[in-house]
Amino acid sequence: MKDCPFCQIVKGEKPADFIYQDEKAVAFNDLNPQGKIHILIVPRKHLSSIQEMEEEDRLLVGHLFWAAKKIAQEKGLSGYRLIFNVGEEGGQKVPHLHLHLVSPEVKHLP
Ligand code: 5GP
Ligand code: ZN
Repeated sequence: MKDCPFCQIVKGEKPADFIYQDEKAVAFNDLNPQGKIHILIVPRKHLSSIQEMEEEDRLLVGHLFWAAKKIAQEKGLSGYRLIFNVGEEGGQKVPHLHLHLVSPEVKHLP
């Protein structure tokens, strides 16, 4: 999607240091971290939010949790939070699905 900031990051049109990437997803540090570690796990495919998820996206969404687990393991994290904000009223500001991995000192909910 043309004006989507996370599509631009996925395509390399906007800078972000990927700390993880595979064929389905990328992960990078949040610009405005709400904890000691705050990583966004983003599918390469544009999907606005969990609200717009279709049945065919079930494996993709599961894959984001798998990537989160691998990143946490890599970083030696023993505890963390995984958060999807859904829709404007749910606090979602970027309309491209992303899973927040926040650890361990959360200042407030992202
Ligand atoms: P949301 O509120 O949509 O769930 O979370 C969006 C998150 O993306 C926010 O925590 C915000 O700081 C982060 N963010 C927004 N734009 C950018 C960007 O261009 N680069 C990075 N690294 N993070 C971003
Ligand atoms: Zn997008």
